[in-house]
Amino acid sequence: MMTNRPRGTNDILQGDVEKWQWIEKTAREVCRRYNTAEVRTPLFEHTELFARGVGETTDIVEKEMYTFQDRGERSLTLRPEGTASAVRAFVESKLYAQPQPTKMFYIGPMFRYERPQSGRYRQFHQFGVEVIGASDPSIDAEVIALAMTFFTELGLSGITLEINSVGSPESRTNYRDVLRAHLLPVKEELCKDCQSRYDRNPMRILDCKVDKCKELTQGAPEMLDHLTEEDRAHFQAVVSYLESFGIAYTINPRMVRGLDYYTQTAFEFIENGSTLSGGGRYNGLVQQLGGPEMSGIGFAVGIERVLIALSNQQVELPIDKGIDVFFVALGEEAQKHSVKLLQEMRASGIVADKDYLGKSMKAQMKAADRQGARQVVILGDDELAQGVANLKDMETGEQITVPLSELVQKVQSKM
Ligand code: AMP
Repeated sequence: MMTNRPRGTNDILQGDVEKWQWIEKTAREVCRRYNTAEVRTPLFEHTELFARGVGETTDIVEKEMYTFQDRGERSLTLRPEGTASAVRAFVESKLYAQPQPTKMFYIGPMFRYERPQSGRYRQFHQFGVEVIGASDPSIDAEVIALAMTFFTELGLSGITLEINSVGSPESRTNYRDVLRAHLLPVKEELCKDCQSRYDRNPMRILDCKVDKCKELTQGAPEMLDHLTEEDRAHFQAVVSYLESFGIAYTINPRMVRGLDYYTQTAFEFIENGSTLSGGGRYNGLVQQLGGPEMSGIGFAVGIERVLIALSNQQVELPIDKGIDVFFVALGEEAQKHSVKLLQEMRASGIVADKDYLGKSMKAQMKAADRQGARQVVILGDDELAQGVANLKDMETGEQITVPLSELVQKVQSKM
């Protein structure tokens, strides 16, 4: 019996994988310009890392982790996001002892046990950036600008940047009290999840997708009105940097983001109602994971969501689908010799292929066309005996006879 792929996972096959490679290449190039280096961490970590790093009361930790016991009876978890791992690596390798800030990016699969639907998978992929060791508001703006550059260089447009400040722990303590007091009269009417959030993490109530909760929280006091002076100044500085970069933004005072570790700046990039990316500052996380007191900020982009946006916006990525040369060989000797010639072509950097099924001339020409070959080498036993081949330019239809000894050079000159 056939075993299918697990629910919520995808195979990325030819025709699509080129788009993935283009997106990844763009991410790498943009990161390079921002002097941001790649970090590769394990796909699984000790469960404890995410419980501590992402937060016990988050949906991810409460409901979505792929947690298992290994044969040594350790509790391990497939990483549901990248920040906790990046910070763990930063602390474990004592990168904090180096001059700061440390700028890192990652690209790779993440795992969450969610209900699969379009744009939501159980294995999905993120490109993320983390900058640790600097709390200057210009860093917040630069990290946001990096993400925006990535989107625009892919050819996406119409992306809204929503931004908020969720404050420092000090701001939040004050605000939580204000929010609880405001919601107390309607507490019993909130959904079950929100009733439990009321005590543990009332800000998450503002984020609830249930209509009734949305209605009940209309007119709730806003975090932005309860920031400390320092948090307010930080937020003001971030948005004025964004203005100076020419990056448009919308302040969304209800955005709290799902993860517990955020402080001050929180932001999301939204396209056509779908969140492409979320991020924010996490000033307590490094210390929480055993490092010194150091601030951090980052974002993660969902690559599948980017692909959906590219498709919705009908962006044609500049992907080279064709090949440089296809060999059409007729006759036994010509077949054999073309294998050798192919190797020579490839050694010279030419993208080359042939027919391996002994098809007719017509079928081989068709195959060349299907492969998007820009040139075709036609080699029969007669040509071989004379030491020549015919070279056809598939765009112009022009055909010339070339000595075999000059074939590589000729193909290259026409590329
Ligand atoms: P988060 O780590 O939850 O802030 O998510 C950051 C981004 O990752 C989101 O904006 C989505 O683009 C993407 N993402 C999160 N969860 C999923 C999922 N289950 N499937 C596909 N993409 C996701």
